Amino acid sequence: MNQFQYVRPTKPQAAIDAVAKDANARFIAGGTNLVDLMKRGVMTPQKLVDINRLDFRKIEREGNTLRIGALALNSTVANDRQVRERHPLLALALNAGASPQLRNMATVGGNMLQRTRCAYFYDITMPCNKRQPGSGCGALEGINRMHAIFGFSDKCIAVHPSDMSVALVALDATVQVSGPKGNRSIPFADFHRLPGDTPEKDTNLEPGELITAVDLPDSPFTKHVHYQKVRERASYAFALLSVAAALDIDNGTIRAARLAMGGVAHKPWRLTAAEQALVGKPATEATFQQAAAVAMQGAKAFKYNEYKLRLGPNAIVQALKTAAAV
Ligand code: SF4
Repeated sequence: MNQFQYVRPTKPQAAIDAVAKDANARFIAGGTNLVDLMKRGVMTPQKLVDINRLDFRKIEREGNTLRIGALALNSTVANDRQVRERHPLLALALNAGASPQLRNMATVGGNMLQRTRCAYFYDITMPCNKRQPGSGCGALEGINRMHAIFGFSDKCIAVHPSDMSVALVALDATVQVSGPKGNRSIPFADFHRLPGDTPEKDTNLEPGELITAVDLPDSPFTKHVHYQKVRERASYAFALLSVAAALDIDNGTIRAARLAMGGVAHKPWRLTAAEQALVGKPATEATFQQAAAVAMQGAKAFKYNEYKLRLGPNAIVQALKTAAAV
């Protein structure tokens, strides 16, 4: 691992200044992804700005919103009474991620900022436009069974690995950030980027911007929810594909729906057209199959991930059936 400077500011502005003024500085919180990347030489920051002393750990209601501090641990959020009662989909998605040990270290902000697990990104002997812009994409013609079926470009076909983020995009979360130009709010759907010609940029954060909290508005999705994660072993594995499903059902009819997929794109993939196809329909398997067909429109596979074109609709139907039955 490269040598690096390490600082631990106690004020947000000092942390922001430290990163904004130094292109080689990075924030670190739980470090569950960044330290791995540094050990492998994938990321080589020359300064780490440890933000663990900042006061961003609270989970509290503000009006009709639940504000979750960016430094709240994944395990804390998953076990929080307000989260479990008002946003159970988020608790399910968090508990589907990683392992208990990692959930006890990883923070909400860090979870959103974790980087793709594309094997070519982690292998510094291989071409990767995300790690080294202009070097090519090893996965495009390589082993791409974990890769995207939506929203990819000819520069990068990686997927975002977070489970938590799939629930947050489904639940219309908003990201609060603080930076050199002040504070701003970013709708969760606009927080992560598609790769386009700049796959090295995972998010729309500006240099030096620090995530301070995630806001969740109250919603009717407090009961009929499910997070369906398909993976190669029962725990501690990234999703081949996942589905976050939330239904508001009145007398057997769907009043409102939220649907998003993970493991299919460079960002958590909200399925708004499929949601609209569910509203006003009976909560039956036939309805769910129609919505799944809408959800998969435009999907395109590569050599080794064609199975996702069949797994996707099956997982959507299963998630919706399970949510409706809760
Ligand atoms: Fe790199 Fe993206 Fe290609 Fe993976 S898919 S090798 S992350 S450019």
